[in-house]
Amino acid sequence: MDNCIFCKIINGEIPSKVAYEDEFVFAFHDINPIAPVHILIVPRTHISTLNDTGPEQKALLGQMALVCKNLARQYNVDEKGYRFVINCGEDGGQEVQHLHAHLIGGRPLGDIATG
Ligand code: 5GP
Ligand code: ZN
Repeated sequence: MDNCIFCKIINGEIPSKVAYEDEFVFAFHDINPIAPVHILIVPRTHISTLNDTGPEQKALLGQMALVCKNLARQYNVDEKGYRFVINCGEDGGQEVQHLHAHLIGGRPLGDIATG
């Protein structure tokens, strides 16, 4: 989608530090990390929010969770723990209107949120 910052990151127009990619998802390091490990996992196709998903996104949403788990292991936060967060809408603190999940870890997270 034109003018979507994450679509531009996915197509390489805006550079990012890539953590993982496959046919369905793209994962890159957050530009403003709130913890030692802060990775964004996004669908390659433009979907604005979690509200815009349905049964047809079941596999995609599952893949986002599995990629999070695998990256947590790769970045050595799996044993101590981490957070998998999807912000949705204004009250949810969603700033970028392209569905994304945050993998956050590497320090005790307490009750912090993202955004
Ligand atoms: P949200 O608040 O929408 O859940 O999270 C958006 C996240 O995207 C924020 O944590 C923010 O730091 C990150 N972000 C925004 N713009 C960019 C960018 O251009 N590059 C990268 N790597 N991260 C970005
Ligand atoms: Zn997009």
